[in-house]
Amino acid sequence: MEIKFIENVNKKVKPEASTLGFGKFFTDHMAQITWSQEKGWHNPRIVPFENLSIHPASTVLHYGAEIFEGLKAYRRKDGGVQLFRPMENIKRLNASAERLCLPTINEDLALELLTEFVKVEQAWTPYQEGTSLYLRPFLFGNDETLGVHSVHNAELIIIASPVGSYYKEGINPVKIMIEDEDVRAVRGGTGFAKCGGNYAASTRAGKRAEDKGYAQVLWLDGVERKYIEEVGAMNVMFKINGTIVTPMLSGSILPGITRKSCIEVLKSKGFKVEERLLSIDELKNAMASGALEEAFGCGTAAVVSPIGELCYQGVKYEVGGGKIGEVTQMLYDTLTGIQWGKVEDTFGWTYKI
Ligand SMILES: *Cc1c(COP(=O)(O)O)cnc(C)c1O
Repeated sequence: MEIKFIENVNKKVKPEASTLGFGKFFTDHMAQITWSQEKGWHNPRIVPFENLSIHPASTVLHYGAEIFEGLKAYRRKDGGVQLFRPMENIKRLNASAERLCLPTINEDLALELLTEFVKVEQAWTPYQEGTSLYLRPFLFGNDETLGVHSVHNAELIIIASPVGSYYKEGINPVKIMIEDEDVRAVRGGTGFAKCGGNYAASTRAGKRAEDKGYAQVLWLDGVERKYIEEVGAMNVMFKINGTIVTPMLSGSILPGITRKSCIEVLKSKGFKVEERLLSIDELKNAMASGALEEAFGCGTAAVVSPIGELCYQGVKYEVGGGKIGEVTQMLYDTLTGIQWGKVEDTFGWTYKI
């Protein structure tokens, strides 16, 4: 399919790297492709970035028919630009779409639209250490009726935002509150799908934790509130007596690409990794006995985020002496090294633009 290109003649002034933050600035263009039941996916295009005009009855505004992805374009040491495992994001987009009865898209077509878009906007990929061009594909139902049924019209759009370094002041461990009231997802629900609705349901606990001085919440399972699920919008890993333990993908947990990459790096380096149920009681015992050596979240935005304190039912536990652990640091160095093209990519994960 030929991708139409309408150039933005009013190019923006690119922001200073020090002012970037996360998701505040957007590039000159956006990529878009439309789906209808009659025509399937059609009219792929890269057009000037602009506000959308949608019908007030549009499905997405009423019934939350929306999914998204998040990945980054990285500026290589040699000046080129590359993506990290983009096909994994496209596969997950389709898995999320399937769950919400949104249309899935041919993987190669989606990758072509994504890479053409990054080619057009590559000058927006910043050069400073730790910065990147964040890519946000999102797909939503867009029927112009209030009837509740599977959608007949949808839009897939990709926008891009230059983002600053997550760790401007060095990698400092964060304090995490274990949430024992609200739940993020249940098995059979949409926990494994990257959908906006999961975020809407998570906001209240996140705000409560923030008000008490915690960075994020650690979610427990939605049935028994007994098993560890994930932390904020990141997957979570623990080093207990030398073994890396991470909750298994049970259906209510988001299958993170960073999680998957961490597991592959750890196994390649000879670490024992267990994907299994991990109960809050087991974690409490490990914290009390000192068997818990490291804890960290992992996701595209931060890569890894060490946890320095966990609070459960008012009791505070210090983790890893409040410092970043050896394995956490190793994963950070390995993954960022590959992403920014500073170390050889022996896994074949990078995709040059
Ligand atoms: C996106 C996301 C993650 C992390 O996934 P990555 O592919 O590693 O970025 C983890 N949990 C939730 C809820 C997410 O939305």
